[in-house]
Amino acid sequence: MEPARVRPEVPPFWVEVASTPGGESIATCIPCEACSSPCPIGALDPGFSLPRIIGRVKAGRRQETLAAEDLWTCTRCYACAAGCPRHARPGEILGALRQLALRAGADGPGPRRARALGAQVRERGRIDLATRGKPSPRRARPAASSAAVRGILDAAEAS
Ligand code: SF4
Ligand code: SF4
Repeated sequence: MEPARVRPEVPPFWVEVASTPGGESIATCIPCEACSSPCPIGALDPGFSLPRIIGRVKAGRRQETLAAEDLWTCTRCYACAAGCPRHARPGEILGALRQLALRAGADGPGPRRARALGAQVRERGRIDLATRGKPSPRRARPAASSAAVRGILDAAEAS
């Protein structure tokens, strides 16, 4: 009798997110919706829900998640972390998703702005909104200090 063929395992999307700097805590997320109530963006825009985004990740909807504009609505205020019963870091999970979206070549106002700001940090070591992209008289050293920031810059550069 011919042996049964074993399909190679494809890691689920949430594992890819958990392997991205900042996304590790998605492994502990249920998701339970508790991080919705402290979110100021969710209060202003009922269409925005971080648990819903995480739910899409857990359901393996990779393409839809990385192309969605709501990834770029979050202000990264981290108020959501206070409501999490699983000690996850939901705001950082969203940062990891942004890295993956940039690597996947996502387009739109959010990704374009992230690439422009990443280029400023690469070139000048800081974000300089006052000069609106024109050369600054003082040149600072690049200062991508955390793994999460470096990941976003690398993703912006690679895309
Ligand atoms: S970090 Fe983003 S998702 Fe979390 S509370 Fe702030 S705006 Fe909402
Ligand atoms: S990050 Fe925490 S609060 Fe938000 S859905 Fe996951 S487990 Fe619930």
